[in-house]
Amino acid sequence: MNAEILCIGSELLHGDIVNTNAQYISKKLAEIAIDVHYQTVVGDNTDRMKNAFGICFFRADIVICTGGLGPTQDDITKEALAEYFGVEMVYDENSYQHVIEMYTRFRRNIPQNNIRQAYFPKGSIILNNPNGTANACIYRGKDSEGNYKIGILLPGPPKEMEPLMDSEVISYLKQFSNLVVYGEKLIVVNIGESAAEEMALDIIKNQTNPTIATFASAGKVIFRVTAKAESKERCKTLIQPVTEELIKRFGKENAYIVDSGKIEDKVAELLLKKKLTISVAESLTGGLVASKLICYPGISKSFLEGFVTYSNESKIRALNVNKETIEKYGAVSEQTAKEMAYGAAKVSGSDIGVSTTGIAGPDGGSKEKPVGLVYVCVYYDGKYEVKNIHATGTRDTIRERSANTVLDLVRRCIEKR
Ligand code: ATP
Ligand code: MG
Repeated sequence: MNAEILCIGSELLHGDIVNTNAQYISKKLAEIAIDVHYQTVVGDNTDRMKNAFGICFFRADIVICTGGLGPTQDDITKEALAEYFGVEMVYDENSYQHVIEMYTRFRRNIPQNNIRQAYFPKGSIILNNPNGTANACIYRGKDSEGNYKIGILLPGPPKEMEPLMDSEVISYLKQFSNLVVYGEKLIVVNIGESAAEEMALDIIKNQTNPTIATFASAGKVIFRVTAKAESKERCKTLIQPVTEELIKRFGKENAYIVDSGKIEDKVAELLLKKKLTISVAESLTGGLVASKLICYPGISKSFLEGFVTYSNESKIRALNVNKETIEKYGAVSEQTAKEMAYGAAKVSGSDIGVSTTGIAGPDGGSKEKPVGLVYVCVYYDGKYEVKNIHATGTRDTIRERSANTVLDLVRRCIEKR
């Protein structure tokens, strides 16, 4: 069985909102080994929506649709599905009671046209939506050639759609797939994407289960190793020798598994495990390093303080960087990076001090110090680890890469001890 995701909404086409529903649904279907071959977006237009249903059901067994279940005249997804299967719309008393209940809960009067939310294609399985007025539905019927097709209509707002997908839809679809898909992410640092791929080319080429996908992100390459099998445990057994071999090739210091694929999660885990405290002094990353670490639940035991010291004066005042150091070597220099990291650790009394200083661009570069030149430093246990980066790309990419690089340097410093 394969699926297509059809998201309805002109605001998606205009670029006003990001299609997070498609991403969410794709991920969930991958977990139960249902392949998604296409994702489609169509505006709130009756004819084009009907056309879209025709195209989707022509090429997919299951069509999961989001949006257009609301009470207004442009919410016509259910009608379009009923028309496709040639069935009528029928009233469902429970769904109308649900609308009334939701409105009463928010002490609002029910507009007349909300009764539309109680009509569904005849023969649908109706899914109760605990987070909104619009109930969702699943319809299974035959197309004009006699093939069984499944249409699943979900509300547009993610906070309503996601819980329905997690519970009702996944448990319904599981009957059509007895496999699970499980993947692990291997982060590779200090090795570029093409070099890393070359080092693993024979493994990548010869694998069918698990499969390996690589993608580069600022300052890291991620290898996603994914297996398909009857259970998660069996998937893990299939994956393990592959990740072990990859780690062996890249070296333990350059490769490690993190579920989320985020370097900061690995760092946070290590900090908490080793009961170490950390403070960060940031110039070009402007709080990005701190923010990444603080996303990790429970990090308050380790993270003491973040300094955004953008100007020379603030580096001097808040971190006790020597004025002469900045005058002699510049704010973007190994020496300043070291004094910033040391200052962060000393001022806040943490075990580890971290710093970033560099030129994020697009302006501000010179021949000696071009845009993308960044120094990051970790001060720990009386020792300094400094790294300079020559990053390319946009301001955002340079900042992201700097943050990832310094976080990875923290990991290496902790693991080395
Ligand atoms: P409502 O009853 O709120 O009208 P609906 O089921 O008719 O719900 P839409 O009107 O299509 O859904 O979308 C409602 C809101 O949900 C949108 O304004 C948008 O904020 C969000 N939304 C819709 N589709 C998506 C999507 N594909 N990805 C992310 N958010 C979405
Ligand atoms: Mg709507």
